[in-house]
Amino acid sequence: MAPRAITPKILNPLQLNRAGNTTWSTSSSEVTMHVPLYFLAALLPAIQASPLLQSRAGPAPGTVITKCTNANQIALTFDDGPYNYEASLVQKLNAAGAKATFFVTGTLYNCIYSQRTQLKATYAAGHQIASHTWTHANLANLGASQITTEMQKLEAAFSNILGVKPTYMRPPNGATGGQVVNTLKSMGYRIVTWDVDSGDWNNQSPQSSLSTLTNAGTGSGHIILMHETVASTPSQLADMVINYAKSKNLKMVTVAECVGDSGGAYTTASAPNGATSC
Ligand SMILES: [Zn+2]
Repeated sequence: MAPRAITPKILNPLQLNRAGNTTWSTSSSEVTMHVPLYFLAALLPAIQASPLLQSRAGPAPGTVITKCTNANQIALTFDDGPYNYEASLVQKLNAAGAKATFFVTGTLYNCIYSQRTQLKATYAAGHQIASHTWTHANLANLGASQITTEMQKLEAAFSNILGVKPTYMRPPNGATGGQVVNTLKSMGYRIVTWDVDSGDWNNQSPQSSLSTLTNAGTGSGHIILMHETVASTPSQLADMVINYAKSKNLKMVTVAECVGDSGGAYTTASAPNGATSC
């Protein structure tokens, strides 16, 4: 049986006029579009940027993260800054080849803008900066709009200081009840708690905190809760934890990296609003 003849139907293809603009017209019920490759290539960034089509790597928004996915890694986390000890802490981390995560607030110990130089240095050194709310409120006691305000005020400061918007946050006191998860999910945040609490916030000694960590064993990738604002943590506990991690061949990485999301710690910030004070 002879193949059927195929009649080309090239009607009114997409054309470029002399100014480079696309033009087309229809005079038939059947239109075959010939779209130049470079035209599609020009559209690609817009397609990739579309929230509808974008599939972000790493944990989905609203996920509560308590551990690293890789047992050979450990995530050192420091809450409640940026504070006066951060510079020395970051120096130690850098010297050890360690990356850590800083969950910072807007106003808990001092205004975030008063520490903007150090915060930029911490960020530039490759440590992860994440949100810990504007005032360190217990979010479980707040409604959705109040939670949103707590997050957005800090987002504005991050935009002004760092030019990025973090995608990871830690609720103060680890409180994930009430409207917390739903609201943060809708805002695109991944929620980080911990599996090892150093207890530094509760006057646990650095030696005792280290025991808590060693007793937890090395079989799973720990996320350890510490506070950069407790004097003995930057001055003593950080060194102990670094030495412990090195002795066990645990790689000290950011929370984003330890959940397989190295490139996903931040997203595009809204335009800076120029604020320089709280
Ligand atoms: Zn805190």
